[in-house]
Amino acid sequence: MGYSRRDFLSQLSFGLGSMVALPGLTLLHNAETYGTKSLLSELPEDEKLGVALVGLGRYASGQLAPALQETSLCKLAGIVTGTPRKEEEWAQKYDIPDSNIYNYETYDQIADNDDIDIIYVVLPNSMHAEYTIRAAEAGKHVISEKPMATSVNDCQRMIDACEEAGRKLSIGYRLHFEPHHQEMMRLGRNEIMGPLRQMTGAHSFPLKDPDAWRLDKELAGGGPLMDVGIYVVQAALYTMGQLPTSVTAWDKTRDTGSFPEVEGTIRWDLNFSDEVVLQAESSYEDSDNHFRMESADGWGELNPAYSYGGIEGKTVEGPMDFPEVNQQALQMDDFARCIMEDKQTIVPGEMGKRDMIILEAIYESAETGEEVPLDFDDGFIRPFEG
Ligand code: NAD
Repeated sequence: MGYSRRDFLSQLSFGLGSMVALPGLTLLHNAETYGTKSLLSELPEDEKLGVALVGLGRYASGQLAPALQETSLCKLAGIVTGTPRKEEEWAQKYDIPDSNIYNYETYDQIADNDDIDIIYVVLPNSMHAEYTIRAAEAGKHVISEKPMATSVNDCQRMIDACEEAGRKLSIGYRLHFEPHHQEMMRLGRNEIMGPLRQMTGAHSFPLKDPDAWRLDKELAGGGPLMDVGIYVVQAALYTMGQLPTSVTAWDKTRDTGSFPEVEGTIRWDLNFSDEVVLQAESSYEDSDNHFRMESADGWGELNPAYSYGGIEGKTVEGPMDFPEVNQQALQMDDFARCIMEDKQTIVPGEMGKRDMIILEAIYESAETGEEVPLDFDDGFIRPFEG
């Protein structure tokens, strides 16, 4: 088992391999060029798919817009914002013409704009459903940020709307495009160190702003579990490569006064077959950011695990050595490629809905104190291609 860059590049078929099939694109085999900008040669600007960001908050401005300056197959073409000051700022900074700037009242007029192919919804969680459905009705492909919505029912409505409109739907699950996480998938699913025995993980950060929408149940749908705990659920499923069978959870909020509507801290055990368990925690009262798998003959772990950069991994054999990538640029380019090649995205709406089934069960268990069996009608587990 080794972690050379060449090994990594050779298994890029995971999320990116079929990019080579697109005419005019070249997969770069030189590790030195990988990670600095893109794996692909650029499409000319006028051939790139246009992305409109809806909601210009921290994630859109700090991560997605900069990432769209590094993408090869798509570009930042438009914005939707309720703040006139941001219209001006963004227009100048990113050279966005007036005709591609919308507010929440004019949003649906995007249907008439051929510059925009993809709408990327980066609003508070409970707004994802409405803006995704309206995007599909406007004839656009959609990326919805995680969590996909705040109920399984809303996830289904989003899937249905995109299907009816014949448009693709993807969730902002950036870590599927990150090499350390891809390595955990490879190790876990291929049982490289023997069968998986146990997983542990936590994603927590102190949230101290009492006015944050993340503390408003109506907008957020839940607390840290919805916000960042979802990454731990994701990591367990893609490392295990199987759907869980049941969950048991406990609300461990310490300062209940600061978290009147959503949990401050939650713990859960996600049970898989063969007695494999994920033991996980997510909190707005602590700091934590790790994921670990224990297999019969070894272990692997990421710490920090879920950050935009600086992810560090090691296994029983030593440190992982993978290049830094722009996760969001790879994620958006892959979706653009799926649209151009009419392929299924590896992070589709069905995956977002699957995760929402799990999150709802975690909340149910925390409330009732009972183990909740998991039932997936059409549970989506990403096919393993590595
Ligand atoms: P934010 O608060 O910084 O931005 C939210 C944006 O929505 C703001 O521009 C705000 O003006 C706008 N908005 C419109 N209507 C609103 C309303 N009624 N209440 C509050 N804001 C309203 O939040 P963020 O951190 O950018 O998160 C936005 C979404 O992106 C969330 O769903 C979050 O889970 C997701 N996110 C994903 C990642 C990731 O790594 N994939 C990281 C951060 C956030």
